[in-house]
Amino acid sequence: MEDCIFCKIAHKEVESYIIEESDNFLVFLDIHPHSPGHSLLIPKTHYEKFEEVPENLGEEFLKIARRSVLLISKALNTKDFNLGINDGPFAGQAVKHAHFHIIPRFPNDKGGSMHSIVYNPPKEDLSTIYKRIIKVKNESQS
Ligand code: 5GP
Ligand code: ZN
Repeated sequence: MEDCIFCKIAHKEVESYIIEESDNFLVFLDIHPHSPGHSLLIPKTHYEKFEEVPENLGEEFLKIARRSVLLISKALNTKDFNLGINDGPFAGQAVKHAHFHIIPRFPNDKGGSMHSIVYNPPKEDLSTIYKRIIKVKNESQS
C-alpha cells in the first residue's frame, strides 16, 4: 500500500535492521525501542488489522515468532518477553499495517505487565458478558 512505512520496509525500499525473514513475514528492530531488542513482526502484505491476516499463515507466523523470541533471548540474555498487538486505534495502533511487538524484559526494568495497559472493568457481571459472547457464537454457527 502506498505511503505505508511498513510496506516500504517489507519491500526493502526503506532500510531497517532485519533480524528474521520468511516467505510472508519480516522481523526488524523497532526504531524507537522500549527495551533492548524490541522488534516488530509484520506480514509482508498490507493488512491493517490482525484479524485480516489469513488464517493459513498461522503456522508460519508462529514459527517466525518463536524463532525471533529464541534468537533475541540468546543474543540479549533474557528469557522474558511481552508479546502483543496494538490492534486498532483505541488499542494504541499508530502504524496501520498489522504488527506484533516482541519486547524483551529484564530484571528491574521498571516496566509493567499486560494488566497495566488499561483498567476498564465491565459494569455487568462476568456471566452477562459470557452470555453475550456465546449468543453471537451460537448465531454465527447456525
Ligand atoms: P504501534 O503503536 O502502531 O503498535 O507501534 C508502531 C511501532 O512502529 C512503534 O513502536 C514505532 O517505534 C515503530 N516504527 C514506526 N516507524 C518505524 C520505522 O520507520 N522503522 C522502524 N524500524 N520502526 C518504526
Ligand atoms: Zn502496509
